[in-house]
Amino acid sequence: MTFFGGVAVVMAIETVWPLRAVSGTPVWRWINNLALTVVDYAVLLGISPWLALLVVNLVGMDNPGLLHKAGAGPWVSFFTVLFCLQFAAYWLHRAFHAVPVLWRIHTVHHCDPEVDATTANRHHPLEPIIGALAMLPVVVILGPDPMAILGYNILVAAVAVVSHGNFSFGPRLDGLLRLFIVTPDFHRMHHSTERQYTDSNYATILPVFDYVFRTATRLPTEQQKTMRLGLPYFRDRKFSRLDQMFLIPFLPRRSPDQPPLRNKA
Ligand SMILES: [Zn+2]
Repeated sequence: MTFFGGVAVVMAIETVWPLRAVSGTPVWRWINNLALTVVDYAVLLGISPWLALLVVNLVGMDNPGLLHKAGAGPWVSFFTVLFCLQFAAYWLHRAFHAVPVLWRIHTVHHCDPEVDATTANRHHPLEPIIGALAMLPVVVILGPDPMAILGYNILVAAVAVVSHGNFSFGPRLDGLLRLFIVTPDFHRMHHSTERQYTDSNYATILPVFDYVFRTATRLPTEQQKTMRLGLPYFRDRKFSRLDQMFLIPFLPRRSPDQPPLRNKA
């Protein structure tokens, strides 16, 4: 419920100070995006006990993690978790763009023709499952205090909602904030229809890895007001409908712009 409270706050900000003119049918998008968000949270809730069981089966009841063995305090645990999981999340996000079968799943997030707070968790349910399984080894190796994981997950959710918001902190404040944290102007580039920008700004909280691995891009806030968002394909209104969003990864290739499932030899 806290997540949806955050969405409501950012939606209020977007309504009062929108960066981009709202076009199309926003209420239709909002309802379907939020319905998919509910499904995703239900899926995560459903798989959580199984993930815990998997960990217990793999490593037993004792926590063999590095942070646990080192007796790290809550803040050391939190910042270590933040840095390590963000590093893993950066590369996982790049894999979702680079591997055709993963891109088909991630397409559901990117084919939203507008980007706002409701886009934040518009993910095909397979994506959070893959994400949780991919992050699991990192968490087991670190073995942090559960509060550090809880804090990280709250931060991920909060930054996701804010960074998808249809508003801007303004060029000056954004220029400062984007050095440390993902801002709406930073992340909006990632939702451009132009592939060179879609394949950039992968960070979800810490932009540092985009700077280090040279995947950070930037366009002035003014240009972002009219920049085309979404994908060149799956633009039809029906692809924002809940049932269609489940099917998108399995639909035949729609356009020459869409990467094939297999690279031709
Ligand atoms: Zn992406």
